[in-house]
Amino acid sequence: MRRDALTKNNNYINYKNKNGWNSLLPVRQDTKELMHDKTPDVAIIGAGYTGIGAAKRWHEIAPNDEIAIIDASTIGEGNPGRNSGFLLEISLANDATSKDMERMSKCNKLISETMTRIIDSVAHSDIDCQIYRTGTYRAAAGKVGIKALKKYQNFLEKSELEHEYLNKNKLKERIGTDFYQVGLFSPHCYLAQPAALIRALAQNLPDEIHLYENTPALEIKKDHSYWQIETPNASIKTKKVIIANNAFCGQLGIGKSYVSTIYTYIGLTEVLDQNSQDMLGAENNWGILPTHRLGCTLRKTPDNRLMIRSLYDYGTEGNNTLIAEKLLHSLRLRFPGLKDVKFESVWGGTTGFTYNGGPLWGEINSNMYISSGCNGGGIVKGTLFGGLLADLANNHSVPDINKLFGMASWMPPEPFRKIGFKLISMIERIRAKDET
Ligand SMILES: Cc1cc2nc3c(=O)[nH]c(=O)nc-3n(C[C@H](O)[C@H](O)[C@H](O)COP(=O)(O)OP(=O)(O)OC[C@H]3O[C@@H](n4cnc5c(N)ncnc54)[C@H](O)[C@@H]3O)c2cc1C
Repeated sequence: MRRDALTKNNNYINYKNKNGWNSLLPVRQDTKELMHDKTPDVAIIGAGYTGIGAAKRWHEIAPNDEIAIIDASTIGEGNPGRNSGFLLEISLANDATSKDMERMSKCNKLISETMTRIIDSVAHSDIDCQIYRTGTYRAAAGKVGIKALKKYQNFLEKSELEHEYLNKNKLKERIGTDFYQVGLFSPHCYLAQPAALIRALAQNLPDEIHLYENTPALEIKKDHSYWQIETPNASIKTKKVIIANNAFCGQLGIGKSYVSTIYTYIGLTEVLDQNSQDMLGAENNWGILPTHRLGCTLRKTPDNRLMIRSLYDYGTEGNNTLIAEKLLHSLRLRFPGLKDVKFESVWGGTTGFTYNGGPLWGEINSNMYISSGCNGGGIVKGTLFGGLLADLANNHSVPDINKLFGMASWMPPEPFRKIGFKLISMIERIRAKDET
């Protein structure tokens, strides 16, 4: 009865729209739910980049341990498949600073080693996740964006990382838009089809890793020296647990004071006709990251679609019809020639937001480990942090993550937090209006 009530209140997987990337792929047949009680050596909550990264590393360290990963959604349809598909092999722009180069080069090294592991891992899968080292553009349309771009260029220069400066005309030549004043191109980025990517990473797991989909953790309680996890049909009793459900950790009563749930949205067009494709510059497969948090991410996919990601909502998902209109408006500002372009799909996804951008990472309770607060950039970082949690839980030495990547700072409770978020977003939106 109690379990029924918990199940009824569970809203972890109720995204309003289907994930457009996943809809382009064949339907997966082989999903398995948890139907019987289990006592694995470790339970992992969330089968995203963090959870899968943790499970694989745990298996390397302790190959005979039984590992259970549960996910509220299905692989591909859920949050890890809903993103823009940028995999940076160096630190993200938000983390990058030219002031502390020794720390930055350690971060860059950890990130690029993880990227290599991801490439290795997908190479063993028969799923084509369209992963290519395309590099990435960063482009700015107004003053605020240009200032942020200069700061990032400074970081790239001090780090002696290859990059190219591009003026408006060069950008237009390459990617067909004169919306931006200036840009940078950095080769240190892969682009992938995110739903295919997470499917590939979760494919061919060793026998000791049991993946249960459509199996939300509804509650976690301490029972003597065990953690007891309730799911809709069965419970899991385990000595060690890894919390890898990112934006939703607070719903389990964990990390509430540090992580908030933020929704952001993607519109993916139909396959463009030849006329439209001809307007899009010389390159076929490209991506642009915004220079300001509230700017738009853009992509042209290898199958000739445009993708745009933008807009944020705090705590609950917004109205997807209004969002689609706003996204289309931003896309047309960038490509006024594409008058008739339409979205094939529009959908939302979540990110775990922390006030200062630092992750919530480490042993949060006895034998309970967490990595949460991806702040919108967690494909590679999540994989890294998940793997390192497995090291930590098995008493292997780990780099000082909090020193290197920061530590999530405390946030005030509701309603102050929501008011603060809305206020800051409003100010930032005005400051960065040229980028949106
Ligand atoms: C629109 C959008 C675009 C983005 N673009 C990029 C990008 O280009 N590059 C990048 O690096 N990052 C991007 N991000 C962020 C990226 O998606 C996340 O950083 C990344 O998915 C984090 O991985 P994770 O495994 O930590 O968490 P998630 O991917 O959020 O995975 C958590 C998993 O936990 C599951 N879960 C939640 N609650 C429960 C529960 N109670 N029980 C069981 N399972 C549960 C969810 O179903 C989910 O599968 C984007 C995010 C969004 C929304």
